[in-house]
Amino acid sequence: MRKIGLLGGTFDPVHFGHLHMAEECRNKLQLEEIWFIPAAKPPHKDWQPSPLEKRCDWLKKALGDTPGCRILDIEKERNGKSYTYHTLLELHKREPDCEFYFLTGADSLEKLNTWYRWEEILDLCYFVAASRPGYDGELPENLANESKKRKYGIICLQIDALDISSTGVREQVALCRDVRHLIPAGIIDEVNNSVEVKVEGYKEILKKRLSVKRYTHSVGVANTAAKLAGMFNGDIERAYIAGLLHDYAREVPKSELLELAVEHQLTSDAVDLLQPGLLHGPVGAWMLKEQGIMDDEKILNAIRWHTTGHPDMDQLARIVYIADYIEPNRDFPGVDLLRQITHRDLNLGVLAGLDHTIGFLVQKDGYLHPLSVATRNRLLEERNNKIRN
Ligand code: ATP
Ligand code: MG
Repeated sequence: MRKIGLLGGTFDPVHFGHLHMAEECRNKLQLEEIWFIPAAKPPHKDWQPSPLEKRCDWLKKALGDTPGCRILDIEKERNGKSYTYHTLLELHKREPDCEFYFLTGADSLEKLNTWYRWEEILDLCYFVAASRPGYDGELPENLANESKKRKYGIICLQIDALDISSTGVREQVALCRDVRHLIPAGIIDEVNNSVEVKVEGYKEILKKRLSVKRYTHSVGVANTAAKLAGMFNGDIERAYIAGLLHDYAREVPKSELLELAVEHQLTSDAVDLLQPGLLHGPVGAWMLKEQGIMDDEKILNAIRWHTTGHPDMDQLARIVYIADYIEPNRDFPGVDLLRQITHRDLNLGVLAGLDHTIGFLVQKDGYLHPLSVATRNRLLEERNNKIRN
């Protein structure tokens, strides 16, 4: 029998950790070849990976002409989620003279018992859990018991693993940091320029800065902004990114917001000093630029002005302003009406949103920000001109 290692994964993107792990397993288990199997629709991922063709292409470039390495796009041909069980059945049918070693990192042991027909997978291949930094590699008792009953079972393999993950790579890309030590040179430019990789990286950054509730809100704003951009012929990609990042500084303490705003001249009116929470817009935009994460001025303006509004708001800034109000997690009296108005006419939606804020502030004797008043006047003027013409 030919001993074949199968390395399934999302590879979004492939990194030195994968390549090194494959080589270590090949040497330690005396495998003849390693077949890389990019998942078409990964069953365990809650995010949208880069398109399969792109991930395959990165793999191809990363492997170059390394002997004994192949890429199988066997999962592309099936519909629905990519289950390892089906892949293994298919491979047995196609390659009856092979014995398979399904190679994974030790992190897979944490969720193996949720894999589709995982017990039967152990009858179809050796399930190899190779060491991975951050995971102890201990075999839980239930897995150990099941493993003994099966034809092949689980092998815990000690390897000299690298502390690299695709999640980490995506985060570094979003932070515009150097990734030469993480991924092969031949794919660096493409990975750096990939919107999917960047967007997922932004999410990793946000998860560390925001509470779960606010993170969920941010994704809601991103989706709503993208939807509105689609409805009103706007820039969907920019809208999604601006929506995602709009609350970047939302959980920065007020004293720090004030300090930064004063030091870097980010305040536009004395009301900012009385209501420093409003500064999370301008400070967030400033931080994103300063930290090298974002330099798109349209996106930065949308973030900068989402708390107060601004008379110069372009379509993107208007979309983010109102998406913040009406995203699906929002629930306050009047939100449905606001959604309806916005879906009919974006500008009227923004006007109604401003009216809502201003009305609320007047009711509770709050300070009105002059920018909100100026924005409202601008939108009213636009509406009246439109009616006149
Ligand atoms: P993500 O962070 O998106 O989950 P990843 O780095 O874990 O990405 P996957 O494509 O999910 O990469 O990994 C495919 C397989 O390779 C998994 O079984 C995973 O455990 C293993 N693996 C990935 N990186 C390493 C590493 N540095 N050392 C050992 N195994 C790894
Ligand atoms: Mg993984």
